Amino acid sequence: MAAELNYSDWFQAKIKDIRIESGNIKTYSPLVEFLYFLMRDYLAVGHIEKIIEEMEWQRAQGQLGSNFTNGWLAQYASNVAHRIADLTPTLCEDEGCEHHGTPHICQTLNTTKDSPKSGKRTQRSTSKK
Ligand SMILES: [Zn+2]
Repeated sequence: MAAELNYSDWFQAKIKDIRIESGNIKTYSPLVEFLYFLMRDYLAVGHIEKIIEEMEWQRAQGQLGSNFTNGWLAQYASNVAHRIADLTPTLCEDEGCEHHGTPHICQTLNTTKDSPKSGKRTQRSTSKK
């Protein structure tokens, strides 16, 4: 007699297998996060690739920057770019530190203005993961 197979359990096991097979990637880059969610949920990879290739071609031709005719859209794009930059953690560059390549917890905890007893960290040191 075959064990009763629950679809939800089977599906969860399948998703787990797919995640293991496709790779488990950790990033601290909010730009990578933004692009991942954009391509996963809203915009086909081909559109992103076309845009980046056009930008690379323009740079190869010596054209630096772009002129936009929709000022509101250009300002919103700039606003989003600044918000993404504000989410970027400072990564530890000390190769001797156990946090090398990850948010510099050892430094941000020492420089925080919060009381050590509060357990709070500065905005930049807090990851939403
Ligand atoms: Zn460190």
